[in-house]
Amino acid sequence: MKTVFTKIREGEIPSVKLHEDAFCTVILDINPVHKGHLLVISSEPYPTFSECPPQTLHHLMDIAQQADKKLRTTLGCDGTNLVINNGKASGQEVPHLHIHIIPRYNNDGQKFGFTKETYAEGEMAKYGEQLKF
Ligand code: AMP
Repeated sequence: MKTVFTKIREGEIPSVKLHEDAFCTVILDINPVHKGHLLVISSEPYPTFSECPPQTLHHLMDIAQQADKKLRTTLGCDGTNLVINNGKASGQEVPHLHIHIIPRYNNDGQKFGFTKETYAEGEMAKYGEQLKF
């Protein structure tokens, strides 16, 4: 079954497209955190970041950097958040790889809803050992 983003790429669902090439499409998010919030979407419907071949990821990041510059120069935002929700547990709603680029403004009152943990004595070093690659 086609994802909503494949339908957008193929023109079955309307969108505001900002860029398109063989490997990705860039559109405006329909429900922006701030106006101009955009999505860099892989052409192939990789369900998550983890399935995407590195060369395609390089291209997506290159395009994301260009989009980021465009947001800063055109909208004058003070910063951006680049976000990839990677898997359902992370809050990913559309199982088709995409990078959110969200314009941010000084003191705009937006923030992620994360609460943070602390490590017990020795635990951080243990995680460090397990996660080395
Ligand atoms: P995620 O939770 O990372 O999967 O984000 C999916 C994003 O796609 C959300 O921010 C939605 O607002 C956006 N979205 C869903 N449908 C559309 C659509 N038809 N056009 C533009 N953006 C969409």
